[in-house]
Amino acid sequence: MNRAIIDQVRQRASERCEYCGIPETDSGLRFHVEHIIACQHGGSDELGNLALACPDCNWNKGTNLTGIDPDTGDVTVLFHPQRDAWREHFQNDPPRIKGDTGTGRTTVWLLNMNHPLRLRHRLWLWQLGEWP
Ligand SMILES: [Zn+2]
Repeated sequence: MNRAIIDQVRQRASERCEYCGIPETDSGLRFHVEHIIACQHGGSDELGNLALACPDCNWNKGTNLTGIDPDTGDVTVLFHPQRDAWREHFQNDPPRIKGDTGTGRTTVWLLNMNHPLRLRHRLWLWQLGEWP
């Protein structure tokens, strides 16, 4: 992946994680340009398959494309930041992120978005007016 593509992804995302929405500037960590559909599954380096993700979201997502909806037990496709509209699947209930659809619930659960340490971080960001 070349530098120009990485810069385009970072700029398109306004330097925020495209899953949980935290800003890169306050994370203290460099965010990852991740393959939404992993290379292992034939995903490309095209812009439409790339997303900016914080390390927590990226590490928890890994190469997964689906997960188990915690409410229904159904195998469910994960949120795709370039095809899906965030607000159709999630809502912020600071500092929590709630899934409104199967895709939203499954993504929140698989990416462990409401881990206590992540809630503490988002609460701090929320109090600073930097999230959501
Ligand atoms: Zn994230």
